[in-house]
Amino acid sequence: MANDMLTNAQMRDIEALLHPYTNAATHRQVGAHLIERGHGCHVWDDSGKRYIEGMAGLWCASLGFGDEELIEAAREQLGKLPYYHLFGGRTHEPAIELAEKIKELYPQPMARVFYCSSGSEANDTQVKLIWYMMNALGKPQKKKIISRRKAYHGVTLVAASMTGLPLNHGSFDLPFDFVKHTTTPHYWREARDGETEEQFSARLAADLDTLIEAEGPDTVAAFISEPVMGAGGVIVPPKGYFEAIAPVLRKHDVLWIDDEVICGFGRTGNWFGAETLNMQPTSASMAKQLTGSYVPLSAVAINQQMADVIEAESARHPALGHGFTYGGHPLGCAVGVKAIEIYQKRDILRHVRQIAPVFQARLRQYADHPLVGEARGVGLMGALELSPDRKSAATFKAPGKVGARLMSELLKHGVILRAIGDSLAFCPPMIITEDGVEEIFAPMEAALDATYSWAKAEGHM
Ligand code: PMP
Repeated sequence: MANDMLTNAQMRDIEALLHPYTNAATHRQVGAHLIERGHGCHVWDDSGKRYIEGMAGLWCASLGFGDEELIEAAREQLGKLPYYHLFGGRTHEPAIELAEKIKELYPQPMARVFYCSSGSEANDTQVKLIWYMMNALGKPQKKKIISRRKAYHGVTLVAASMTGLPLNHGSFDLPFDFVKHTTTPHYWREARDGETEEQFSARLAADLDTLIEAEGPDTVAAFISEPVMGAGGVIVPPKGYFEAIAPVLRKHDVLWIDDEVICGFGRTGNWFGAETLNMQPTSASMAKQLTGSYVPLSAVAINQQMADVIEAESARHPALGHGFTYGGHPLGCAVGVKAIEIYQKRDILRHVRQIAPVFQARLRQYADHPLVGEARGVGLMGALELSPDRKSAATFKAPGKVGARLMSELLKHGVILRAIGDSLAFCPPMIITEDGVEEIFAPMEAALDATYSWAKAEGHM
């Protein structure tokens, strides 16, 4: 039975839509939250209430809403060439220009860019190109992919397999067997008593080494990592982590996929998270902030070795048997070129580096609140992980309830944030000002206190 307090739009929504990442039964009771418009870092719902977007949508609306230059770039491209594809050797200027920009900005040398529409498609493409390459190299057994528990790489079958979250596996018959998961680099939660960050990092690198040895190095093709785990709860790797991982991958001749879908294009204060976290990938996936998310577009950048093998292999096939109708859509590419131009001319990276210390300091003010286990983050992304006991990094008996309560408390105060289990995630548009940061945090103390009282009364603590 639907709730009779629902609006007409909510009733229509319930009957017409199946919502992603939504509990369908609860949704029928509470109804959808209808967002009508956005401007800058704010959005308005159908009741006229204004919210500050503390998550940039889904970690993606980097330039906020209503950026006239992005809108104009889209309008212009729509008028000139609203659609074309890159199959069979066709091309268009925005696709070339954007690929050149990506190659120029990525911290490791990359040779070619392959376009898709979503982060998931980009990560599936990574695996397909790597398998194609391994077959070409006469190593058909070298196909396994190693990811990490709590990683998020998307929801298509292979990307969801690489994702390391139970929600994406249960009832979907995933993960596929060729995907293996290793330890999450979360020092606060996973480190042993007395272990330093460096010792913890060395232990995780040893875990990876043991896993590769156990699987057989000649069966392991690649390791995939986000620089900072996003949807797994904004987990910033500890000191020395990627520095310890790199030699293990080299030793076993394992490729390294960098998933920059969240971190790419300034989020951590550098163009790419690989730079901030000192990774040495062989290929990279990017999406979201690539276009400020005004238009869907994703990209896979591959290094010279991969590009050379793929080119040499074309002697054996009529064509590369992979590609999406919308991959390299001219609208996405034109808006991507404009987004990068804006990042450069408005010096958005410098702005991120200036505002990040303010944001991170504000976040850490809540580290001692009795409901908070850990306050963490880097650049303009962060999380408050809630815990009934900070010292033991304990989790709640009923996971997710306290986090959801805090999120809805903040929503009442006009702040949109996202609870990932019991971690409250923050990822505001990169154009956020100090006043905007203040607006996000203004109701935090009161919301934490109210949630804490509720959690105690409900027996969660
Ligand atoms: N990789 C990462 C790191 C992501 O955060 C996401 C989406 N949040 C994806 C891949 C998947 O992207 P999409 O939802 O566009 O398929």
